[in-house]
Amino acid sequence: MARDYYEILGVSRTADKEELKRAYRRLARKYHPDVNKEPGAEERFKEISSAYEVLSDSEMKARYDRFGEAGVSGGAASGFSSDFSDSFADIFESFFSGFSGGVGTQGRRRTGPTRGDDLRLDLSLDFQDAIFGGDKELTIKHLETCETCKGSGAKSGTRPQNCSTCGGTGQVRRATRTPFGSFTQVSVCPSCNGNGQIIEEKCISCGGRGQNEVTKKIKITIPGGVDNGTRLRVSNEGDVGKMGGPPGDLYVFLSVKNHPEFKRDGINILSQLKVSYLQAILGCSLEVNTVDGKSELIIPPGTQPNTVLTLEDKGVPKLGNPVSRGDHLITIEIDIPTKVTIEERELLEKLASIKGERTGKGGIEGFLGNLFH
Ligand code: ZN
Repeated sequence: MARDYYEILGVSRTADKEELKRAYRRLARKYHPDVNKEPGAEERFKEISSAYEVLSDSEMKARYDRFGEAGVSGGAASGFSSDFSDSFADIFESFFSGFSGGVGTQGRRRTGPTRGDDLRLDLSLDFQDAIFGGDKELTIKHLETCETCKGSGAKSGTRPQNCSTCGGTGQVRRATRTPFGSFTQVSVCPSCNGNGQIIEEKCISCGGRGQNEVTKKIKITIPGGVDNGTRLRVSNEGDVGKMGGPPGDLYVFLSVKNHPEFKRDGINILSQLKVSYLQAILGCSLEVNTVDGKSELIIPPGTQPNTVLTLEDKGVPKLGNPVSRGDHLITIEIDIPTKVTIEERELLEKLASIKGERTGKGGIEGFLGNLFH
């Protein structure tokens, strides 16, 4: 069992591209056979290069993280390639350009169908739509197989021909002799760019790509209970694959607009309600807004400021289980009037005298006023 690639490069599993690159450069300089003649250095250098080739390619890295070496065998790990006859500086340049789209990644490209790309679409929903869901019509742009050439890219009546340079493999191999032994250099076939096929006359509709960008309307059903950040997958609405490969998926990323009155807290809805001090003291029944429309809320006598009253099952349906709903929580604010009429004032003063409370205008004047009346 070979060593762990992260361990070989001396980085953590969370290392980003830059860290990986730095670690690779540092180790490659140290163990490169041109500078390090110690026994084992060359082996070490190969190991480092293979590890970097896998981890620097996000697709291969993901496979390695999931399946270990089995997930990347047949790829970079087996196809070490280099050209030791170049000068030191050039070697590093060619390594890095090679890894980013050259030998490293193209070397394992297979001629044949590949799955298309996944696409992302951002969709902003009204508050109410996020709660109850519903159908939405979306306009998307994605790649579809060209109808004229059925994806071959060749002009109608013609067919792509096998590339004669590489015999249809998309790769050319060259053996290089060095003081350290022979190495096989694998590179992308320059004639067909790795496709393995050559199109002599291109399809007019797609220009030889075999695919066209199509604008399309699709209808999706938003389930009730979605929230900011919910991601919906629409199967097969991504870009179609190359050479008739299966399409990728479309991911719809949702965001929810604010509501003037309501707020979401998970599956609960929060709002505020102002009641008068009399309603708070005496209690009452009030009509309030909910996402289901008007509803009756009982304010019990003696309700205190900031009391939270609950309307059960008037909240958000649980995503995936719409029968179960959250609650609507209403925080009660108590409105103290800034002005009262003369009549109201008389009644309030009477009430205060029953309670034996000192009232009147604030300060000493109010206090004296009370004494003399
Ligand atoms: Zn076409």
